[in-house]
Formats: sequence, C-alpha cells, structure tokens
Amino acid sequence: MDCIRICNLEIFGKHGVYEEENKLGQKFLVSADLYFSTRTAGCDDILSESLHYGEVCHFINDFMKDRCYKLIETVAEQLAKELLLRFRKLERVRIEVKKPWAPIGLPLESVSVVIERSWHTAYVALGSNMGEREEYLQNAIQTLEERADCSVERISRFIETEPYGYTEQERFLNGMIELHTLLLPEELLALLQEIEQEAKRERVTKWGPRTLDLDIIFYDDMIIDSVELTVPHADMHNRGFVLEPLAQIAPNVRHPVLNQTVAQLLEKLESKQQ
Ligand code: ADP
Ligand code: MG
Repeated sequence: MDCIRICNLEIFGKHGVYEEENKLGQKFLVSADLYFSTRTAGCDDILSESLHYGEVCHFINDFMKDRCYKLIETVAEQLAKELLLRFRKLERVRIEVKKPWAPIGLPLESVSVVIERSWHTAYVALGSNMGEREEYLQNAIQTLEERADCSVERISRFIETEPYGYTEQERFLNGMIELHTLLLPEELLALLQEIEQEAKRERVTKWGPRTLDLDIIFYDDMIIDSVELTVPHADMHNRGFVLEPLAQIAPNVRHPVLNQTVAQLLEKLESKQQ
C-alpha cells in the first residue's frame, strides 16, 4: 500500500523508567510510515486529498512533549492510536520510537520499539429474544458507536427469526453491523461480553432466554482458532439469521475458510432448506 514516510523526527521528551529521565529529558527519534492511498492526491496534485506530513510531524512533536510515559512501548502504542484517530485517511501506521541516549551504562547506537497498528473491519451479529428486543440491539450499537476506537459503518435491518437449537423459547430479533475498530479480536470479544453483561443486569426474569447475544462473525480475513474465540464464527454458514442480515450489508465478502461469498453461502443454505 502507498505510504508517506517520516524518518527520525527529533524530539526532546521525558519518557523513561528512571526519575532522572523524567526530570532531565532526552532525545527521541520518531519514524512513522503512514499508509493510505495517495492515488487521488498524486493524480490531481491536491494537498487536501493527501495527508499533510507537516501537520503530522507537529502532532507527533506535541504528543511526545505533552506526555510522560515510562516505556517507549507505551509511547509507540498511544501514538499509533492517536494518529489513527486524528487522521482518518490513515488505514495503518508503522511507528518506530528510538532512544539514542538510553541510560544503560553501555555504548549503543540506539534502542527502539517498532509497531504496526491499523483499523480493522469486523462483522458482529446481534440477537435478542427477551424483553425489549429492539432496545437491546439499539443500545449495543450505540455503546459501540460512542467509543472513539469503534465506528459502526453499516447496520442491517433487524429480522424476526425462529429460535435455533433449543426451540422452546420466544422468537429472536437478529441484526448485523459492520464495525471499524482499533481493537484486536480478543479485545473486541471482551468488549462485546461486557456489553452483554450490562444488558443481562437489566433483565427481569432470572433464568431463560437471552437479552443480548453478540458474536464476531468475521474479523478482516483472519482465521482464529483459540480456546475462547473462533473466527469466522464456527456455525455462521448454517444460520439463516446470521447470513440474511449479513448478506444485506456485505454480500460480496468472502469466507476465508470456505472461500465463498456471503451471498453464495446464503443461496446454498436456502436451497438446502427447500
Ligand atoms: P452462543 O453465542 O454460541 O449462543 P455464548 O454467547 O454464550 O453462546 O458464547 C459462548 C462462548 O463462545 C463465549 O464465551 C466465547 O468465548 C465463545 N466464542 C467463540 N467464538 C466466538 C465468536 N466468534 N464470537 C463470540 N463468541 C465466541
Ligand atoms: Mg455469543
């Protein structure tokens, strides 16, 4: 991908584990690779279509001077996040924070931390079959939307569906959202579980169906198989209540394991059910 590269921007800052570093300060060198498409700016020769690297440098300079972290890991992490939040054209950043005067009592050229961070696209399925179903779904969407590190890009229509699996319960209301997020998959799962918990606290009856279920269906084209997380969602291709709203907002997204688009998976499921 195209990239604007800022190399060794020199800044005097006070980050460090030792008290002396926080008091006296020292030199830092920050490099940033800013990934986004420069095509339109390059073809039309228009600055507003690009990223103003002068502005970015001043932003980095202010960031480095205003704060005081112990670790350059934290400097890099927070800086990457703030850049992605502030300059919305950016899709990905690679940050290197060098400390040429690191006080370790030995001669070294420099020590540095290098990280890459980016916006990710996740599809999250929402379901509820208890109480004010629509309100639960809307509240969940609003909670996500209110976070700086999440942006709800698309929302499907909500559909009424028959319960799946254990069928002796109320009908469900199901929906799907496309979420842009800076959170990593495990962090997103933890957030969704928090929102589920919040909804459960409000519930009237103790046992029984769910006020709110939030599942990660896709996360970029990542394949994850860990104890707490399976992505793409393990059973999504068998569930009409997942595929139908997903097909509304992302028909052409391809399942990275089954190598079929959402529209194809839905068609296959529907023909099987007839
Ligand atoms: P279900 O969604 O299958 O009806 P739960 O919402 O109670 O059931 O989730 C059970 C567990 O599923 C969670 O603790 C979570 O760790 C795990 N899980 C695995 N993959 C996913 C995923 N893609 N999205 C959400 N939860 C998942
Ligand atoms: Mg779930």
